[in-house]
Amino acid sequence: MKHYANERLAQLARDRGMPDEYVRDLRVVSSVLPFKVNEYVADELIDWSAAPDDPIFRLTFPHRDMLPAPVFDKMAALLDAGAPRTELRAAATAAQLDLNPHPGGQLEANVPTLDGRRLDGLQHKYAETVLVFPSQGQTCHSYCGYCFRWAQFVSQEELRQALRDPADLTGYLAHHPEVTDVLFTGGDPMIMRTEVVRRWVEPLLERTDTVRTLRFGTKALSYWPDRFTTGPDADDLLRLFEECVARGRHVALMAHFSHPRELETDAVREAIARIRATGAEVRAQAPLVAHVNDDPAAWSRMWQLQVELGVIPYYMFVERDTGASSYFGIPLARA
Ligand code: SF4
Repeated sequence: MKHYANERLAQLARDRGMPDEYVRDLRVVSSVLPFKVNEYVADELIDWSAAPDDPIFRLTFPHRDMLPAPVFDKMAALLDAGAPRTELRAAATAAQLDLNPHPGGQLEANVPTLDGRRLDGLQHKYAETVLVFPSQGQTCHSYCGYCFRWAQFVSQEELRQALRDPADLTGYLAHHPEVTDVLFTGGDPMIMRTEVVRRWVEPLLERTDTVRTLRFGTKALSYWPDRFTTGPDADDLLRLFEECVARGRHVALMAHFSHPRELETDAVREAIARIRATGAEVRAQAPLVAHVNDDPAAWSRMWQLQVELGVIPYYMFVERDTGASSYFGIPLARA
């Protein structure tokens, strides 16, 4: 699967007919915020004839209003002047820190300890639920412009949450029998090869009886449904879900769908059917955001399609106060 980021993303936009002025905006905005699009999104989801107003284009491509105007102007001036890489990076880092990279104190809040050691990459948020950020799952097949986890994708180590060792997870859970739910999150844990997913999941099946529900937060159904159909280890992944279900665990893919179009390709429909055939559930979630889905008809169609496909509409969020929130956020009253 081909991916486009940075200069390749600019080239893709140019190849698909976007004007030079837009390509300059793209370069400026993506010097601060992370963007990546894969072949499936570019070829199957975006309607290029409607870009830049196409909702999937808005979801995945930069827009100049995603940065505060003074930040945009500063980065544009540096880029136009051909500033050295170190200067660009310093300015980008300062801008990232101003965009509230970890809303709600995410880096500090709810981080548990094991034998006096902080387990960065775990969040024990609610008594019954632990969130796991596996280190191999901290990227996505494409990025959403509104992502509240965007700081996971910029190259600042101190902004990242990641757990390296599955033994830290089982070690922690051994001391916390009240935890019944483990939610793998990211990034996108479905970016991991199946053998890596198995390394995280199998110890829970074998050693942690108290954990009854395994959830995977993922946008792979939208951005790369082949992960569950024709991808190299798709069948192994489905066998793993089956194994979890056979061992009495509830398995749920917490699928992120932002727009009904993501549910309309043959590939996603086949992927959903294959996952459901394992006994796992697919629940759907998304934020309500400007330029993408701030339209009752979009949500009504999305929920109708989900129900028809056996997907359970589950969460509707609003935009968090981070990153490009002023571009995507809409007033609660309107939401
Ligand atoms: S798929 Fe999820 S984690 Fe990845 S960029 Fe989109 S919102 Fe963020």
